Amino acid sequence: MQIALVDVQRRVQARVPLPWMQVDPAWLKTQQAVGRPLVRFQEIPLEWTDFRLTFRQTADILHRFDAIERADHQALVTLGRDGHALEPLVRTWYAVTSGVDGVPDAAARQQVTDAPAGAEQVMVLAIRPFLARCAEALTQRIDLSTWTHGLCPVCGWEPDFAVITPSAERRLICGRCLAQWMFPALACPFCTNDNRALITSFATRDGRYRVSACDVCRRYLKAYDARNAPRPLMVAVDTIATLPLDAAAMQKGYQG
Ligand SMILES: [Zn+2]
Ligand SMILES: [Zn+2]
Repeated sequence: MQIALVDVQRRVQARVPLPWMQVDPAWLKTQQAVGRPLVRFQEIPLEWTDFRLTFRQTADILHRFDAIERADHQALVTLGRDGHALEPLVRTWYAVTSGVDGVPDAAARQQVTDAPAGAEQVMVLAIRPFLARCAEALTQRIDLSTWTHGLCPVCGWEPDFAVITPSAERRLICGRCLAQWMFPALACPFCTNDNRALITSFATRDGRYRVSACDVCRRYLKAYDARNAPRPLMVAVDTIATLPLDAAAMQKGYQG
């Protein structure tokens, strides 16, 4: 399933141009200072026809591999065909989940809550090829080293993977736009717990991958350990290669 999803994303992303991202540097500084992400919805180079197609293809793949139920799949395909329903939902969902304009109002949050089951999972994957282009364009131009938060500096989503650099620092990788940013290796990005006694860490036998789990919020994050590694991180490959680690972490009572 992961391979099929990566394949769809790669094909779409190849068609998406690198956005110009002509954003006011003072605004970017303020956003960073108050801990808000940098990409507003209107800056994402979304081509709606392409997005709707990606949305439906993603829903099909998740359904084919039993990740979503038949009835939910039907509802999502219908939603994916109806631009008048899908576009405002995606817009509101991005505003609510990125926090780029601050705390969203209750009506917006409700609209997201009322979306069909599985819609969020599909939106995260379908928007990635477009949003990843923004992350690429921004990270080439902007210094993200002052960002100290557990959420993504580009889109405000949670990290989904990490890489331990040869200098033993940890870079988190966004689960929505794939942007990378530094975060202390022995702190939890989900609840900011930094008590080392309450961080459980374990590695695969070959030492290539590592799980860091928090005993306060019970969440975990996987990482590729690039120290002494024969190759650099390959996000698509490494997320798939570590599926057994997810099972191990969940067996220990942690959540992704
Ligand atoms: Zn992101
Ligand atoms: Zn935690």
